[in-house]
Amino acid sequence: MKIFYHKAALDDYLKSLRQDNQRIGLVPTMGALHKGHLALLAYVKPHCDVLVCSVFVNPTQFNNQDDLEKYPRPVKHDLDLLRENGCDVVFMPTVEEMYDGNESWEIDLGELDKTLEGAFRPGHYQGVTQIVKKLFDAVKPNIACFGQKDYQQYLVIKKMVELFSMQVKLLLCPTVREKEGLALSSRNVRLSERGKQQAQSIAAILNEVQTNSGHLGVKEARRIAIRDFEAVKAFKLEYFEICYPDDLKVAKDDSKAEKLIALVAVWLEGVRLIDNVIFDVNKINNNYA
Ligand code: AMP
Repeated sequence: MKIFYHKAALDDYLKSLRQDNQRIGLVPTMGALHKGHLALLAYVKPHCDVLVCSVFVNPTQFNNQDDLEKYPRPVKHDLDLLRENGCDVVFMPTVEEMYDGNESWEIDLGELDKTLEGAFRPGHYQGVTQIVKKLFDAVKPNIACFGQKDYQQYLVIKKMVELFSMQVKLLLCPTVREKEGLALSSRNVRLSERGKQQAQSIAAILNEVQTNSGHLGVKEARRIAIRDFEAVKAFKLEYFEICYPDDLKVAKDDSKAEKLIALVAVWLEGVRLIDNVIFDVNKINNNYA
């Protein structure tokens, strides 16, 4: 496994592989890797010849300085995991390597920048697209993989790829969860044991939404889910919404759309947790999607 800290050296190396028609796959991460990230690597691996993982805690996407400072950075552990999981190339730049300190960035992400995560984390998706554009320019991947856990982020990146007419195919990997349903996240390590147990109800409540939407309609399913989130005293609910997966517009009560997505953000023990499930209103089952 090769490790690069500089764009120029990375480009030199990848250039020769590209000339040999090798397909480059990219998994962008902020490190503190867990099985969710490893699932992304495994998901993209069959579609590429060279698997690149970037590890970079991007300051421009944090709207909370404390969150940025507390973000875990277990570099050696990350490199060991990448080595054991089929990663060919790691790109691990410094902040100075990625930003010259005097840049501005604003692209038109439309409503995606204003709703749900966009509403509660102003500027977050501008920061995300700014760094992903830089990573795409540095790696020039044929294919890049993102997790469903950050579904809105996937839509935002899709929009950015369209805006810049970039030649990269995007893959969406299903969310990896603990046995009890909690979506894996690098921030989970900041939860106490009790917090982790309480956090399990996020997935449990989301899973009820599908059944309730089918039986009672979207409006009632939304009301019940909000009631259930608010009943967990340790949670501070930021948003819960049932939307159309294409554009994250709020679903109509009588929606007969095949696919809907229920999305949530809650605070627990000072940690912000997000999750979502994509489901089919017409099929009643209880599998996490
Ligand atoms: P992060 O390091 O949190 O920026 O995440 C890097 C990538 O991993 C993003 O595309 C995330 O959506 C994805 N990811 C994070 N957690 C999970 C998970 N539990 N299951 C699937 N993908 C995930």
